[in-house]
Amino acid sequence: MTIFTRIAKGEIPSYKVAEDERFYAFLDINPLAPGHTLVIPKDVEDDYIFHLDEETYAGLWAFARKVAVALKAAVPCQRVGVAVLGMEVPHTHIHLVPLQTEGDMDFRKTRPEVTPEQHKAIAAAILKEYEKL
Ligand code: AMP
Repeated sequence: MTIFTRIAKGEIPSYKVAEDERFYAFLDINPLAPGHTLVIPKDVEDDYIFHLDEETYAGLWAFARKVAVALKAAVPCQRVGVAVLGMEVPHTHIHLVPLQTEGDMDFRKTRPEVTPEQHKAIAAAILKEYEKL
């Protein structure tokens, strides 16, 4: 079982920002910017997004769109950037990153310090916006 499956099951703690029956979104623990969110299918552990069946693939992006709308409402930003890498965790996930500049999307940059209290507050703010949608 991957670490992200265990997060979706609640066996490992995470800062949840949105959830439905099949998909789960939570804050990246080492964010490129405060509010950096990961969106995952709960039950599909394949590590390559283009291996997903068409229905799951479309559902994942539809869920990610809603999360991005909530994220932008909760975290002031120019727009929400999207990336799919998967070099580290072998469980399909979409990165949603609140951007002020193009450089905020640079995965090699030094990450900002975000305290657990800040993570908690940001996650709660995004979840609140998500629940309005
Ligand atoms: P990648 O697989 O290259 O797309 O990167 C995996 C991302 O998952 C990285 O940005 C990590 O900071 C993030 N990550 C790894 N473990 C956790 C965790 N337990 N909770 C939240 N984010 C995580």
